[in-house]
Amino acid sequence: MILIFFGPPGGGKGTQARRLQARRGMLQISTGDILREDIAAGTPLGREAQGYVERGELVPDEVMVGLVAERLRRPDAAAGVVFDGFPRTLPQAEALEEMLARADRRVDHVVDFQVSEETIIRRLSGRRVCQAAGHIYHVEFRPPRRPGFCDIDGSPLFQREDDRPETIRRRLEVYRVQTAPVLDFYRARGLYTALDAEGKGEEVAARLDAALGV
Ligand code: AMP
Repeated sequence: MILIFFGPPGGGKGTQARRLQARRGMLQISTGDILREDIAAGTPLGREAQGYVERGELVPDEVMVGLVAERLRRPDAAAGVVFDGFPRTLPQAEALEEMLARADRRVDHVVDFQVSEETIIRRLSGRRVCQAAGHIYHVEFRPPRRPGFCDIDGSPLFQREDDRPETIRRRLEVYRVQTAPVLDFYRARGLYTALDAEGKGEEVAARLDAALGV
């Protein structure tokens, strides 16, 4: 099965994609996580992407498409994939369709995580992420057992540079102008599913499973 999790930053895509990866053995391809790892490691990709990510803007399509093509060729992508944060532009959606077709695969569902702007701001401004593996917490809604440290691997939690108020506004604008229109591409293919993504992680998970019929 190939799923695309679509929605604004703070929609909860990453949290739900990680859950499907853990519970169903699907591979989560989070382009944001990949870029952050490369930026932290100082790779050529990381150096190229850093400025865009810090400003809340999109990394160029050629870079993103090359990165995803490489991940899709790995053996662990054979069983099932959840895309989290890709595609974000029409050229990315078209490129994904072509690369899947070449492998005789196609997208099964595109899930649109719908949340209010108020929820987005509350979720992003309280979000904390673990340094070792990107596990996601929230100071108010999903606090770790020991403040400031990951429950799973004990590594320190940090606030993403782009979760600060100025950059949040820019990311929401980029989402509205460049990314949201991609949904029409999938509506036209009959792949679109809306998801009420308000509320607690477990509540969203239950609605998601019902929508996917799993
Ligand atoms: P995310 O973790 O999905 O919110 O992504 C964080 C940042 O990484 C975004 O604000 C972009 O700068 C960059 N990014 C992630 N995925 C993409 C993509 N598919 N296309 C372009 N830029 C991306």
